[in-house]
Amino acid sequence: MASFEHLSTRLAELGRALYDRGWAMGTSGNYSAVLSTEPLRLVITRSGVDKDGLLPGDMLVVDEAGKAVMGAGKPSAETVVHLGVVHATGAGAVLHTHSVWNTLLSEGAPEGGSVEIAGYEMLKGLRDVATHEHTEQVPVVENTQDYERMARDVEAALSAHPEAHGLLLRGHGLYTWGRDLAEAKRHVEVFEFLFEVVSRSRAAAGGHDGGG
Ligand SMILES: [Zn+2]
Repeated sequence: MASFEHLSTRLAELGRALYDRGWAMGTSGNYSAVLSTEPLRLVITRSGVDKDGLLPGDMLVVDEAGKAVMGAGKPSAETVVHLGVVHATGAGAVLHTHSVWNTLLSEGAPEGGSVEIAGYEMLKGLRDVATHEHTEQVPVVENTQDYERMARDVEAALSAHPEAHGLLLRGHGLYTWGRDLAEAKRHVEVFEFLFEVVSRSRAAAGGHDGGG
């Protein structure tokens, strides 16, 4: 298991890089990595911090109830959602971005539905996907300011889509994860690429997703 210092440094670097890509502007987005599993401890960005210039000191350790057990400040409001993703998937790292393309794409899916992405070479960047002939279902969960409810809805969507590599919160953003931070980062890059491709190609086709 990596140390708190190591994970804090990696999360801060990654957060600045995601800010630079325009995928989590201002204080939006939050990032976490599992520090230990028994008991569960998560290193996570603190609430309200601008992601431009994110520093290792902006990270906290929370327990499985989302309570801060190390570090200064308040954990991100979405900490319970990160914990839900870790429970549902066994992930070692969880990344949450608010990009233009993930926000736009999240709005098109029906309630309880998902965004389907198929046929792109870039899908092979997702864990255990070996061919472009893969159909990725990205579940879309309704947004809410009740984060306990959001965490339950996210866990339910992930139990309905155990093969998913990410999910969208409607009008809000992407959650993706990986066995470790490197894999989670790769998944953000793959999804943000695919979301832009799908959004642009739908717009070019007249803004409709099939449906005649
Ligand atoms: Zn968010």
